[in-house]
Amino acid sequence: MNLSDKVAIVTGSGQGIGRAIALRLAEAGAAVVVNDIGEAAERVATEIKALNGQGQAILADVSLPADVSRLVDTAISTFGRVDILVNNAGINRDQLMMRMSDEDWDKVLTVDLKSVFLCTRGVLRHMVRQRWGRVISMASIVGIVGNPGQANYASAKAGIIGFTKTVAKEVASRGITANAIAPGFIDTEMTQRLPEEHREDLKRRIPLGYIGSPRDVAEAVAFLASEEARYITGQVLGVDGGMGISWL
Ligand code: NAD
Repeated sequence: MNLSDKVAIVTGSGQGIGRAIALRLAEAGAAVVVNDIGEAAERVATEIKALNGQGQAILADVSLPADVSRLVDTAISTFGRVDILVNNAGINRDQLMMRMSDEDWDKVLTVDLKSVFLCTRGVLRHMVRQRWGRVISMASIVGIVGNPGQANYASAKAGIIGFTKTVAKEVASRGITANAIAPGFIDTEMTQRLPEEHREDLKRRIPLGYIGSPRDVAEAVAFLASEEARYITGQVLGVDGGMGISWL
């Protein structure tokens, strides 16, 4: 996969899956805008440069319209174009639905779903002009099958799937594809916070028998971002070790 001459924005790429995606796209030759809310974005941009890649950190909260405008404008003024958007930033605030606060509902829907709308809207007019673009958004297996304690998160992730299919239809004629990835259980800080017994229980439900790595997700993103994936749009790709087909 060759992504040289392509410019990518990866949201929430200061750590975890986003960091692995930023590094993988840079490895394939893309110039990468490493976005996050914290300093970690600078560290990942430095890692990319150390590997002779092009990386630029832009701190921005992708749930805020003004921050997203600045993110996209700075990416364009730095690299001249945006070809690939990876909507990866996400949080969870788990609680059984009956006890879930309005704040935890709103926060997760805003950070996980509204951000996808804001960032995609922000880059699309540039992609339409270029007549080429890739929008890849991080959904979750939870957005397909649900999960107790994650009504807010599951709703946001299911929303990403509906959004992706709609965008795919709206911009297909402009050479732009939109796809979602539904990771299963991936080893990152988000899942390291789970109690050990919960992690073991989840592991038992993975037919391949092991927890995925951020790199496993990054490989799927690099493929969907490539020219080779030009005929794939409106899809949800499970990267889950078979969890999505498991009865356990
Ligand atoms: P993580 O918590 O390790 O990393 C998420 C990153 O997003 C962090 O660096 C965080 O600072 C950043 N972020 C949070 N809010 C932001 C905001 N408003 N603006 C910009 N950046 C923000 O999580 P992860 O496990 O790497 O997950 C990445 C994505 O994959 C998320 O969308 C998550 O929902 C999804 N996902 C993860 C798993 C898993 O098993 N880890 C499974 C399914 C889906």
